[in-house]
Amino acid sequence: MKAVRFHEHGDHGVLRYEEAPDPNLAPGEVLVRVRACALNHLDIWARQGLRRVPIPMPHISGSDVAGDVIASAAPDVAIGRRVMLQPGVSCGRCAECLSGRDNECARYEVLGYRNHAGGYAQFVKVPVQNLVPIPEEIDFVHAAAFPLTFLTAWHMLMTRAKLKRGEDVLVLAAGSGVGQAAIQIAFLHGARVFATAGSDEKLERARALGAFEVIHHHTQDIAQEIKRLTNRRGVDVVLEHVGEATWPKSVRSLARGGRLVTCGATTGPNGTLDLTALFSKQLTIQGSYMGTKGELMRVARFFFAGQLAPVIDRTYPLADAAAAQQRMEESGQFGKIVLEVQ
Ligand SMILES: [Zn+2]
Repeated sequence: MKAVRFHEHGDHGVLRYEEAPDPNLAPGEVLVRVRACALNHLDIWARQGLRRVPIPMPHISGSDVAGDVIASAAPDVAIGRRVMLQPGVSCGRCAECLSGRDNECARYEVLGYRNHAGGYAQFVKVPVQNLVPIPEEIDFVHAAAFPLTFLTAWHMLMTRAKLKRGEDVLVLAAGSGVGQAAIQIAFLHGARVFATAGSDEKLERARALGAFEVIHHHTQDIAQEIKRLTNRRGVDVVLEHVGEATWPKSVRSLARGGRLVTCGATTGPNGTLDLTALFSKQLTIQGSYMGTKGELMRVARFFFAGQLAPVIDRTYPLADAAAAQQRMEESGQFGKIVLEVQ
């Protein structure tokens, strides 16, 4: 098959569009012909090798995949079925998996990261439980753009922060994959959403997705603006994924009893915390990683019903994966960048 692989860590120049062996199915696995694969920051971290996580070489990235089933080594699978894929792969038999918390499995991995070859290829194999059938009216590009970021944002807002109707939510980096998903999920659940972005055009798009007020994070101070816009109260929930660059402002934006939930540290892993503020304002700091298979099926119902939809920034042919990753690294995008596979 054709695939985009890297044989060594480095900048986007190490990505090679080349021949790669077809996947071999083990019992319980299915083979999917990839029609579209969306990019995530994880792809860039894997390629750069910055996280001290060993990546077997050569490596195929790609966690967000849509396509059709073309072969199966599992029973009762309809060949030709249009699907999107659960990005989380877990053992399926430990206490965490059997309790429905598969993203806490000790063997949890993300498709396209470390040991599971991903969707920057014509074919990908996954365990049968990773298939999510998609209806006819959903196209492959939108289906590929949905799973990882909507699952992540759902787990953060609904499961970890337990968002309630009428609460105020601050979503950082509205143009990112998680940002655009979080604005939509919070708005759909009756929250008042404040969103940040780095350009006026992105701020307008954030409003169109449901943001009540927007903050330009290069020209305005996030915490000061939140205090001003909430009559000095602060917000109930902050959705963090930026890390070092915004962490102190995110903490200062919280109301008494507020919850900060984080799923990433794109600008760096170190943040300080004023312990006096933590206890006196009764704050909660929560970590969040991906989400469960059951949660993806739940949030997908809103997608299939037309109530949530991933924003597509731009599509590229698979062979141009390096250019696609470069666009993501330059932060020019609003929404998801998607590779289309012939
Ligand atoms: Zn498990």
